Amino acid sequence: MLHTVWNLQTVNSIYKKTIRNQESKIMNVLVINCGSSSLKYQLINSDTEEVLAKGLCERIGIDGRLVYQKAGCDKEITEAAMPTHKEAIKMVLDALTNDKTGAIKSLTEVNAIGHRVVHGGEKFASSAVITDEMIAAVEECNELAPLHNPANLIGIRVCAELMPGVPQVGVFDTAFHQTMPAKAYLYGLPIEYYKEYKVRRYGFHGTSHSFVSKRAIDFLGLDKDNSKVIVCHLGNGSSISAVQNGKCVDTTMGLTPLEGVVMGTRSGNIDPAIMEYIAKKENLDLAGIMNVLNKKSGLQGMSGVSSDMRDLQAAADAGNVDAENAIEVLCYGIAKFVGGYVAAMNGVDAIVFTAGIGENAGNVREKVCSYLGYLGITLDEEANGKRGEEIVISTPDSKVKVAVIPTNEELAICRETVALV
Ligand code: ADP
Repeated sequence: MLHTVWNLQTVNSIYKKTIRNQESKIMNVLVINCGSSSLKYQLINSDTEEVLAKGLCERIGIDGRLVYQKAGCDKEITEAAMPTHKEAIKMVLDALTNDKTGAIKSLTEVNAIGHRVVHGGEKFASSAVITDEMIAAVEECNELAPLHNPANLIGIRVCAELMPGVPQVGVFDTAFHQTMPAKAYLYGLPIEYYKEYKVRRYGFHGTSHSFVSKRAIDFLGLDKDNSKVIVCHLGNGSSISAVQNGKCVDTTMGLTPLEGVVMGTRSGNIDPAIMEYIAKKENLDLAGIMNVLNKKSGLQGMSGVSSDMRDLQAAADAGNVDAENAIEVLCYGIAKFVGGYVAAMNGVDAIVFTAGIGENAGNVREKVCSYLGYLGITLDEEANGKRGEEIVISTPDSKVKVAVIPTNEELAICRETVALV
């Protein structure tokens, strides 16, 4: 018995030493976000959190274009055939290790790889080290994200082939939202659809909601275990989440990213009966209707101008009423969700804006907050006029703090990867 205890103590001390060595080791993490015909990447030094190089591959399977940018240098663009993700990732690795412009000398300097994985279903409530079992579990979620998960898995498999032995981690868009209670994730549908087909609210942008809500708690000096934060992630895709004591309790996106607020080209919430009505009028089948709701609606569809907030703003300023209405519908919708989440948490300490629109469009933030005077919110106009920086935009006497916190999903994936490997 004594012998066993001694052994355990020895093992424990060796383990602690190993952990210390790992802590002191500088790790370069390659963060990969693989889409069906594109791939975004960043190489991050996990110690300094400096981005050593970043870029993307576009038009994979069509013709192929690599964008590569080493820190402090200009972007390099290379047009070259990329029939599959394998050639694309090979080109990224070649660029990273290029004699003249590479950020590293050899691939041995890539210590870990972190992959964005869109859907982890109910199987993943946190990030996971990639193993054969893990891949099989992700594959079981493919039906829930047929456009995204298979592409994410291709990236994982190609990296395993090209960099054997380098540990890989999957970071899920859905994981942060797995703490939602049943009353927030169940739909008013026959319960068999949940029990048999897993039809429920999952929520997306979880890496961003997690990163931004954590940062908000630190930045605003809140007590994590007694905090109520609403995160408005407003980009091309937009979602809002209610985060109580650091855990997500509700979010606007659902089984798919189509639900919630009006987005660049997605409709967000509509009366589901509209689908049948329009199908008959426009002679569309289900796929045609889904295409309209995902790609032809939202700010783009409402304005007939653009899905891009900058274009929309310019059109509204020039007197385009449809563009103006699209912005109004967006801001009114956000304010209604925020109000709902104040009720869900019975209060709110901070409302945080992030992503392209949230970080840059002061007019959107101002319009949203103009509905929230009942919460005792007052905006500091000068602070709200700033763009893209971490800043409190409410006045010191505002009863609820309002802030802008730039999101950084790549850094969040890097941190998760380091924590797991
Ligand atoms: P994605 O969901 O593709 O990651 P982003 O978070 O990059 O999207 O957000 C894109 C949105 O941010 C677009 O609607 C764009 O118009 C908007 N945006 C970016 N810069 C500005 C700006 N300076 N002012 C207003 N909107 C902006």
